Amino acid sequence: MDPRNKNVVVIGASAVGSLSAKYVSDKGLDVTLLEEDAKAGKFNRCGGIFSKEGMDQTGVPYRRILLNEVKGARILSRKKEMRIKSSSVKGVVLDRQQFDELCADQAVSSGAHLLLNHRVTDYSSNGSMKALTTHGTFSSKVMIAADGVGSLAAKKWQLPPFKTSDLVLSYQAEFENANVPDREMVDVLLDTDAYKHFFAWTIPVNEERIRVGVATTDMAQIHKARKAVFSHPAIADQIEGARKTFDFHYTIPLRYRKQTQKRFGKAYGLLVGDAAGQVKATTGGGVIFGSKCARALAEEATAFLSNEKETLEYESCWRAQHGRILDVHYGLHRTYRLFNSSLTDFALQIGNTLQLNRVFEKRGDMDFILK
Ligand SMILES: Cc1cc2nc3c(=O)[nH]c(=O)nc-3n(C[C@H](O)[C@H](O)[C@H](O)COP(=O)(O)OP(=O)(O)OC[C@H]3O[C@@H](n4cnc5c(N)ncnc54)[C@H](O)[C@@H]3O)c2cc1C
Repeated sequence: MDPRNKNVVVIGASAVGSLSAKYVSDKGLDVTLLEEDAKAGKFNRCGGIFSKEGMDQTGVPYRRILLNEVKGARILSRKKEMRIKSSSVKGVVLDRQQFDELCADQAVSSGAHLLLNHRVTDYSSNGSMKALTTHGTFSSKVMIAADGVGSLAAKKWQLPPFKTSDLVLSYQAEFENANVPDREMVDVLLDTDAYKHFFAWTIPVNEERIRVGVATTDMAQIHKARKAVFSHPAIADQIEGARKTFDFHYTIPLRYRKQTQKRFGKAYGLLVGDAAGQVKATTGGGVIFGSKCARALAEEATAFLSNEKETLEYESCWRAQHGRILDVHYGLHRTYRLFNSSLTDFALQIGNTLQLNRVFEKRGDMDFILK
């Protein structure tokens, strides 16, 4: 059958687009997955750390691409430090590119048609949704855009844009021959004077490989922020004599769009993943909640296309299931914006006095904060 007449088209074969294609295909629908690049994936422009529980729930057999398992974090402000180390694995570190390719393979195994080198250049609607690509036009009644933070679909469908103040610019580098003090611990560096409104991090990949990153709302100051991170004593020690193997800049949305679904006559355009801004504002992590929303999307798209429901209710469904926890993350992020360095030192001091690390060791959760 000609894939151009399938009833669901997904744009973007990175993690969330491929998982959307998989979940929809698993429901028995015909799916075409369009990707502009010659390969699926985000080419490792990611920290590659995910909650273990969230990753288990994606249904992707990720163990074969597992690089490291993390049990806790060392949180450093200018003058204070808090260590939280659980007895169990909280986070898994993966090769993000391999993960994305695995997600695309899973989509294909479930029956989706993956078309690489198909960049969508425009959209139109006329009874059904149409995506105009570099290699022809693709139509469907339900079109799913997982085309990332700069989503062309969101612009063309005139969905509300992200507020500039809800975007952070990030920089991340990977080093080999690094001096990793504890491969089970990530570092979180809080210094809002050096990296405004966000934080810097290290993610150990193994005993001698580490990812070091920083993000800030003050995009013009990203180079200064990067210098501040590399010269921080705790980081400088880890990367002394190490070799940088890869680095990049990228934008992260911290708040979901006001609208992520639009009706065009009898057809629908839906945004998912970073395109929708389904991201934890405390960390910038988007894969787990993007994949959770992709599941809601598959349910609702199937109910609509199989005529169980007259209208497609993805928007209300993902907000009911995941909107509140994303709001909690955003609220914590907005609160942190009120902090200066001294207040951050003070907060860590209070946290240590109250032994909050013990609470997080027992009940801490990367996605739901506390369980
Ligand atoms: C520095 C950094 C560190 C991060 N660390 C983590 C982390 O540790 N854990 C975590 O969960 N999240 C992390 N994130 C966030 C995470 O990378 C994103 O949330 C995730 O990649 C979103 O996936 P997505 O599939 O929605 O979009 P993307 O990964 O951005 O993929 C979009 C896809 O759409 C394709 N595309 C775009 N336009 C078109 C078009 N017109 N036609 C066809 N195809 C198109 C692209 O080629 C790409 O394949 C990090 C982000 C950054 C920047």
